[in-house]
Amino acid sequence: MSDAPISRLRIVQGDITKLATTAIVNAANSSLLGGGGVDGAIHRAGGPQILAECQQIRARQGGCKVGQAVITSGGRLPAAHVIHTVGPHWNGGHKGEPDKLASCYRSSWQLALENQLESVAFPGISTGIYGYPKAEAAAVAVREVRQWLAAHEWPREVVLVAFDEESKQLYEQHVP
Ligand code: ADP
Repeated sequence: MSDAPISRLRIVQGDITKLATTAIVNAANSSLLGGGGVDGAIHRAGGPQILAECQQIRARQGGCKVGQAVITSGGRLPAAHVIHTVGPHWNGGHKGEPDKLASCYRSSWQLALENQLESVAFPGISTGIYGYPKAEAAAVAVREVRQWLAAHEWPREVVLVAFDEESKQLYEQHVP
């Protein structure tokens, strides 16, 4: 595979709510009504506008299924938009978890493509409360980034956000 796509991938360590990418991705739950982890942090930092828009989406389509994604504004966040995707619960790895996780990334990029979003930052979807092993999730994330960027012009840039040093190293292992 050419180097060009991977030059559009950045790995950073830190708090995703501080990033001024065009969109940040939320590891939401299917209710879209907020929760703990990165979901709670995004709603706290972004303010009530994000939840109000999530409630409108719920009224329209009844939440969001695992592997799918929806988009709202970013409220008071530096990012203009939040893409909410629902990752799979880890259940031993034989319940379609890798496909569902890959679908989260692809669904999020599909929204980035449709909305021509320049840059999109992802947390480690499912790797917190949902229990997906971080190493395996990092492998899925980097594989999906490569495949998507090789075939699509949008988003221009993808940022994989590691909350801790261990996650950063796991991402970097997959990126030469
Ligand atoms: P899930 O329910 O999908 O597992 P979590 O929010 O529990 O989602 O965790 C997903 C990942 O996001 C975890 O790796 C966690 O360490 C990380 N995380 C939590 N808060 C933040 C934050 N403010 N910025 C970036 N990553 C975060």
